[in-house]
Amino acid sequence: MAKILDGKKIAKDIKDELKIQIQEWVKEGYRAPSLCCIIVGDDPASHTYVKNKVLAAQYCGINAETIKFESTITEEFLLDKIKELNESDIVDGILIQLPVPDTMDERKVCNAVSPHKDVDGFHIVNVGQLCLDMKTIVPATALGVVEMIKRSGIETHGRKAVVIGRSKNVGMPIAIMLHTDKKHESGLGMDATVTICHRYTPKNDLEFFCQNADIIISATGIPGLVKANMIKPGATVIDVGITRITDAEGKTKLVGDVDYDEVIKIAGAVTPVPGGVGPMTVAMLMHNTFQAAKNLREKTVKIS
Ligand code: ADP
Repeated sequence: MAKILDGKKIAKDIKDELKIQIQEWVKEGYRAPSLCCIIVGDDPASHTYVKNKVLAAQYCGINAETIKFESTITEEFLLDKIKELNESDIVDGILIQLPVPDTMDERKVCNAVSPHKDVDGFHIVNVGQLCLDMKTIVPATALGVVEMIKRSGIETHGRKAVVIGRSKNVGMPIAIMLHTDKKHESGLGMDATVTICHRYTPKNDLEFFCQNADIIISATGIPGLVKANMIKPGATVIDVGITRITDAEGKTKLVGDVDYDEVIKIAGAVTPVPGGVGPMTVAMLMHNTFQAAKNLREKTVKIS
């Protein structure tokens, strides 16, 4: 049976470490880091995500505030609000919960956030720096996957990895860190040989690449895509997918991309859903917020 990679436990360790670091930071005379979450519209899942982020922030000693807007606001109005937060000396991290309404250009909204305060790592400058292996703010889910692999002692150097999904916010940044040279500036490189699969990868090819992989990371949102016959015995399987489904009894539950009950019999290590990558994302967002506070250190007024 595979080892279960307990994301909840690792995330708690990270938050506990951050809590101590933030206490020390405050003792040094800096104000507590602060995070401002903006949510537009009434998507229930988005509201739950933001609520969890705010709770995690409070746990770590980060001041968190949520600003809620109706979906009817204009893009211009939102951009003005972001500008105000960019200029505020008491806001370190800004998070715009995606998706924004269809009336808005998501890329324009992401680029409006100051790259120093962009705790989601979605600003074009942060994405560019990640692609160049420079120190930057990395999207929280991708960073969570990397941190989980590292803290679980899974070897990646020279190993074969498959990333299923090529989204710019999840699959791509994961693949970038997995293949990058560890010696480069970011220090996040994992030196693996990486294959990226996506919706146009023929099923036979997907199976072939997975069967040869030491590490599989799936981020598609397709329940049951990764089956036991695709797993090399002993491989590590990281499930980034989170899909809400209704079971036969009419109950809703969260499931990942991986056929967990079967894969667990073959794999060497596997993440559960829920309780795997999800909590890691939230923990790494807190990490990014503290990093943003440190980025803005010069601007931060010391309270003596
Ligand atoms: P996220 O932002 O969580 O990564 P997206 O919905 O943006 O999710 O992306 C889903 C990804 O899954 C896309 O890159 C898509 O190409 C990939 N994908 C969809 N169907 C398949 C499939 N059958 N096999 C492999 N990859 C797939």
